Amino acid sequence: MNSEALLEVKNLKTWFFTRRGIVKAVNGVDFALRRGECLCLVGESGCGKSVTALSLLRLFDSPPGKIVEGEIIYQGIDLARCPIGHLRQIRGKDIAMVFQNAQSALNPIFTIGDQIIEQINTHLDLNREQALEKARMLLDKMRIPEVDRALTQYPHQMSGGMKQRAMIAMSLSCDPCILIADEPTTAVDVTIRAQIMNILQELKRNRDMSIIFITHDLSLVREIGDRAAVIYGGRIVEIAPVERILNKPAHPYTRGLISCLPDVSSESKRLPSIEGNTPNPMDMPSGCPFHPRCNRVMDVCRSVLPELMNILDVHAVACHLHPNLGK
Ligand code: SF4
Repeated sequence: MNSEALLEVKNLKTWFFTRRGIVKAVNGVDFALRRGECLCLVGESGCGKSVTALSLLRLFDSPPGKIVEGEIIYQGIDLARCPIGHLRQIRGKDIAMVFQNAQSALNPIFTIGDQIIEQINTHLDLNREQALEKARMLLDKMRIPEVDRALTQYPHQMSGGMKQRAMIAMSLSCDPCILIADEPTTAVDVTIRAQIMNILQELKRNRDMSIIFITHDLSLVREIGDRAAVIYGGRIVEIAPVERILNKPAHPYTRGLISCLPDVSSESKRLPSIEGNTPNPMDMPSGCPFHPRCNRVMDVCRSVLPELMNILDVHAVACHLHPNLGK
């Protein structure tokens, strides 16, 4: 992994202006993605991790969504503000996205082959034969059996695992340098999950690709991540190398997530969870958004929002207990 930042996100705020009020889904996110690293964005549903990922390519509906503040710097260009035509050239070619649900990401009226070829022809100067050969090679790499048959199939003719791998093949068709994978294993069984994780690990190893991996599952973070950023209430509350996050978590929310990891030695069938609910992004608690659920809450937490601060060069946390935690 190289320490050079490929993508820098600064104070990103993505809000949704609805009739019922303003949903502050992403509310001040900062991070840098390094060349060749896998950065995991971790948190419960509704904490802002998927909207952060969609914001990087402005893939949310606008209106009602809008990036109201912040920058997304890629190769000197601010993706939060650049003209949409320019962003379309970057989408798929430089930065590609794999979604949670392949069924809704693939077009039902075109074959898999046509969809991959169209993606290639949009960005690369290849003729149809060359694009077809590339599509064949990509599906083969994704360990899809009977590649020539798969190229002629429509999405509904494939199993869920095949569709997911076909979508990954399509996202890799223009050799992007950044891959954003939003919960790519949520809708597949354990066998396909293991295959997808292997594919992503190979991409990182062999292509030096940078990956933003979004998940609520810390066991996947342990498998693939170099660093992890924990998101809560639309902000990063802790960021550090994965080993450090898992062994010396400094934020009470991160500690809660780790305590929810299933214990294989336990006979209990119930999965533990953090008490309370994620905050309503339309009506965020004052001060630290985690304070209504925090077992270490202090008076200051109810009124003052903690800033993300370094407790080590490689480890930052947003919590008023700092600097006494994490040591
Ligand atoms: Fe808990 Fe306070 Fe830290 Fe928030 S700032 S996580 S409420 S101790």
